[in-house]
Amino acid sequence: MKRITILGATGSIGQNTIDLIDRSPDDFQTVALTGGHNVEQLAADARRLGAQLAVTAHEDRLQDLRDLLAGTGVEAAAGHKALLEAASRPADLVMSGIVGAAGLEPGLEAVRTGATLALANKESLVCAGPLLLARARASGATILPVDSEHSAIFQALVGEDTADIERVIITASGGAFRDWPLDKLKTASLAEASAHPNWDMGQRITIDSATLFNKAMELIEAKELFGLSSAQIEVVIHPESLIHALVGFRDGGLMAHVGPPDMRHAIGYALNWPDRRHLPVERLDLVKIGRMTFRDPDEARHPALRLSRDVIDAGGLAGAVFNAAKERALDGFIDGGLGFLQMAEVVEETLDRLMPEAAPMVDMSLDDVLAMDAKARRVAGEIIAAL
Ligand code: NAD
Ligand code: MG
Repeated sequence: MKRITILGATGSIGQNTIDLIDRSPDDFQTVALTGGHNVEQLAADARRLGAQLAVTAHEDRLQDLRDLLAGTGVEAAAGHKALLEAASRPADLVMSGIVGAAGLEPGLEAVRTGATLALANKESLVCAGPLLLARARASGATILPVDSEHSAIFQALVGEDTADIERVIITASGGAFRDWPLDKLKTASLAEASAHPNWDMGQRITIDSATLFNKAMELIEAKELFGLSSAQIEVVIHPESLIHALVGFRDGGLMAHVGPPDMRHAIGYALNWPDRRHLPVERLDLVKIGRMTFRDPDEARHPALRLSRDVIDAGGLAGAVFNAAKERALDGFIDGGLGFLQMAEVVEETLDRLMPEAAPMVDMSLDDVLAMDAKARRVAGEIIAAL
């Protein structure tokens, strides 16, 4: 029986995690669930799973959450401090499924307690990878990647010596616009960018898949998790999304991880680690699939990949700038003021302005990260306003 807390329980990662727990109720005991505005879903899950604590990020939703949980014995709480409290309750495993840099502090809290962190929230590695890893080393916590590509790499490395890695190849579906000509991309709408061809995910990561910012963040995530240089990380477009990543070893061998595009595989692998258990994912019929295709990403259409390589090479707090500028630009696109291709322009310009002060900050504290995050959002906002 594992004690589990789910941060971002009402989101796409959180709901897939709960689906797996519902199927194996004897294997998990739920400690805390956190969510946002959707307190109805949060309360229903907390009640069914018998959680100790349910937390909404929004203070103005607390009364509703309390009403929904009245008489159930589940504690209700709200706000930033309550989120950190949920993350630090004793648990064996904490699923980090909040979207954005908002997932960083709860993730750090979970790691401080020594709990295993099942990490879907790639933003915390992008903006503060060295800090998160140092906290994990200090407490002895294990970090298990949940992003499908990084779970694939992790699985390919079981029993291997990381010193033998020559390169990793991360696959990308190419997102909603993989076959669109450049001039059409300029006018891509929010609805069009929010429809992913293969994966069913939250809105923000779906749009990030269309710009390839999601893949760009995954390169930084791979650097942090596996200690790779930018030259060791390759990206190929693989429209079928069946191979999630490959690891190339010094003897020329490539280990590929193949599976259906269903996040419950990577989530279930982390939930059951170090064991493997039955998971309710489709079994692939290779003959029916027939073939898998690969091509180079068009970096001219998608500057995100080039920018992320610069961020990897620069180090320090370059990732915090990159992530915050991207989040601010994405807000601009979702709110309707910013065009699809302008998102990358805003990130590039923000990096140009802040890289000289961000890159040298190697021994980062949480305060340094939060200050740089706030500054990059402000600068990106100014750049957007001037467009
Ligand atoms: P989502 O938008 O579906 O869910 C996000 C969750 O975070 C919700 O529970 C929401 O209430 C909560 N949340 C949002 N803002 C918050 C804030 N400021 N404070 C506290 N909680 C907040 O997102 P998702 O698609 O599940 O993605 C979650 C994370 O997992 C992201 O980092 C994403 O990149 C990563 N990821 C997701 C998938 C996927 O299949 N969805 C795959 C790989 C990686
Ligand atoms: Mg991924």
